[in-house]
Amino acid sequence: MKFFKCSVYVLFTLSIANLAFSAYTYRDLRQPKILHNSDPAIAEFSRQAMMRETQILQGILMIHHDREMHPSGTQVLCPLCDQEKQLKSIIVQKEN
Ligand SMILES: [Zn+2]
Repeated sequence: MKFFKCSVYVLFTLSIANLAFSAYTYRDLRQPKILHNSDPAIAEFSRQAMMRETQILQGILMIHHDREMHPSGTQVLCPLCDQEKQLKSIIVQKEN
C-alpha cells in the first residue's frame, strides 16, 4: 500500500513538472526569434535564391510570351515585353 501511495506522489510531481515545462515551452515559442543579419552568408544565400527565382520566373514568362499566352508588351517582369517597350521608347525618342 505504501508503494502505491509513493507512486501517486511521484506521478503527481512528474505531471506538475511536465505541465510547467509545457507552459514554459509554449510561452518561449510564442515569442518570435527572428535573427536579423546574424550571418552575412544567410543574407547572401537569400539574395542568390531571389535572383535564381527571378530568372526562373522570367524564363517561364518568356515561354508564355513565345506561345502568345499574354498580350505582347503588357506582362510585368517579362524580358521580351521589356525589350519591346524599350524599342518603342527609343522609336518615340527618335521621332521627337
Ligand atoms: Zn511578354
